[in-house]
Amino acid sequence: MTNLLRRAYGHPLLYKGRRLECPVCDGRFRRMRHGRGRRDVQCPRCGSYERVRALWLFLREESGLAEGSHRVLHFAPEPSIAAAIEAMPGVEYLSADITPGVAMEVVDITAIPYPEDSFDTVICSHVLEHVPDDRRAMGEVFRTLRPGGTAYFMQPVDFGRAETHEDPSIVTPEERLRAFNQYNHVRVYGRDIRERLAGAGFEVAERRYTEELDSADRARYALQDGDATEREDVVFVAVKPNP
Ligand SMILES: [Zn+2]
Repeated sequence: MTNLLRRAYGHPLLYKGRRLECPVCDGRFRRMRHGRGRRDVQCPRCGSYERVRALWLFLREESGLAEGSHRVLHFAPEPSIAAAIEAMPGVEYLSADITPGVAMEVVDITAIPYPEDSFDTVICSHVLEHVPDDRRAMGEVFRTLRPGGTAYFMQPVDFGRAETHEDPSIVTPEERLRAFNQYNHVRVYGRDIRERLAGAGFEVAERRYTEELDSADRARYALQDGDATEREDVVFVAVKPNP
C-alpha cells in the first residue's frame, strides 16, 4: 500500500486499533470510515467498502482463482481487489471499464471487443445497474466466457421486490436518484435478477456470502447487516454450461 493511498483515507492514528479487520489489505483498525448513514463502511487504508470486502472474501475463499491458471476479465475494477488478483501466480489479468483511465482497457460491456470463449472468469460488480441494456451486457459476458467458465455478478438487489423496477423514461439524475436510489442507476433489481441472468444462458447460483459467515466474522470484517433486505453484497455465480 502506497503512502499516497494512506494519506487519501485519513490519519492512521484516528483508526489505530484491532477491533476490525479489512480482508482486502489485511489492515487492523479500531474503526473504519463512516458513510451512507452507516458506521464502519470504508477501510481507512485501501478504501474498500462493505460490498468490496464481501466480494473479496468470496473470491478468496470460493473462486479457486489462487490455484491453476485463469484468464480473468474484471469490469469496473475495485483497485484493492484488482491488485490482489493480478498478483496471483496463475492469473492472466485484464481490467476494463467504459470510463477512460480507470482500467487497463476502455470497454463497453454491451459490445466486448473479444471473440467468444476468451475468458475463464469474469468479475462484474456494481456495473449492471448502470447499463441501460443489461440483457445485452449479460449476453456479451456469456459469449466471451469459455464453456465451463464463471462470471461473478454483484449488484444492488432489493429482495423485498419480486420484479425489477426500471423505466427508460426516467433519465435525469434527480429522477433516477428518487426512483432507483442513486443518480446514475437505471433500475432497482428485484429477486428476478436471477431469471434475467439465466435468460442469457447462465446456470445461476445466488450466494449470500455475508450471511453465510458467522456473526463474529461479519462484525470483524465490518460487513453489511445480515438482516437487510436491500443488499449490495450478494454474489450471483453464473456458469456458462458446457455444451
Ligand atoms: Zn483495506
